[in-house]
Amino acid sequence: AKEQGRNNFQFFAPWMDSQVSNRLEMLINLRRALDQDEFKLYYQPKLSLQDGRLIGAEALIRWESPQQGMVPPDRFIPFAEEAGLIVPIGEWVLRTACRQNQAWQQAGLPPIPVAVNLSPRQLNQSLPDFVAGVLAQSGLAASWLELEITENVVMKDAEKSVATLHALKRLGLQISVDDFGTGYSSLSYLRRFPVDALKIDKSFVRDIVRDADSAAIVKAIISLAHILNLRVIAEGVEDEEQHAFLKENACDEVQGYYFGKPMEVAVFTAWMSEQAQA
Ligand code: C2E
Ligand code: CA
Ligand code: CA
Ligand code: CA
Repeated sequence: AKEQGRNNFQFFAPWMDSQVSNRLEMLINLRRALDQDEFKLYYQPKLSLQDGRLIGAEALIRWESPQQGMVPPDRFIPFAEEAGLIVPIGEWVLRTACRQNQAWQQAGLPPIPVAVNLSPRQLNQSLPDFVAGVLAQSGLAASWLELEITENVVMKDAEKSVATLHALKRLGLQISVDDFGTGYSSLSYLRRFPVDALKIDKSFVRDIVRDADSAAIVKAIISLAHILNLRVIAEGVEDEEQHAFLKENACDEVQGYYFGKPMEVAVFTAWMSEQAQA
């Protein structure tokens, strides 16, 4: 009976609890999503705080599932990471973002760097070669690609990560530290890691106006970035008060619903053309 069970493997066998079968279902669906092109990239603008000009965009993945509708990344990226599917998904994201950015430049829009989020598993020794290949195939110059990594990405295996980040930097792209201030790393890595910018996590930005500690932390991160010669960007900016605070405290860049939500390609393209004419 045991032998037979192994041969006639069924995903929803009675011995599986519903959590296990849900996970398997999720994996099967994600695999299919990749094969059938169900992922989409949305783009959210980044603006200069000095003059409000568009100075970049972040690519954010969405899954348009035929069964579940639009699935946000927080609901499937963790599964994809656990199952190793994040590597092919991440490759799709890189390819798509670089192609799209090159298409915008060819259409005559003012060039901007496009940022892509990296999961810990993607930051391995083969990543620099892969990125170099994507850049060559898309025709995009490396300076128009930015990679967003979290502090935790780098702490897993610091020595190897440093080497990989240096190899990526040698290609000529930009690297920023995402969700800065929420990780568990020490500040000393900022000296050793070749990063260009810090992104202040939106949990601090959210409380800037009503919580003195958050305001102090944001100010401290801005100072720290500038002392280390890094750009600093605040994410999750939702209102004029937060905007004013960041401007007053010399933050360099902003990103958030107050300026522009993540938009699908056609909408972002129109938004960009409008900006370019203003
Ligand atoms: P993240 O990298 O920190 O991205 C910022 C998140 O904040 C995005 O959520 C964005 O839509 C949202 N956001 C932007 N402006 C505001 C605002 O003013 N207020 C608030 N409350 N939220 C704002 P999203 O698109 O749901 O993405 C969630 C997370 O999923 C991202 O957080 C990132 O960690 C991950 N993610 C997204 N795309 C990718 C991807 O292509 N690859 C990987 N590995 N992770 C991704
Ligand atoms: Ca990000
Ligand atoms: Ca973030
Ligand atoms: Ca995040």
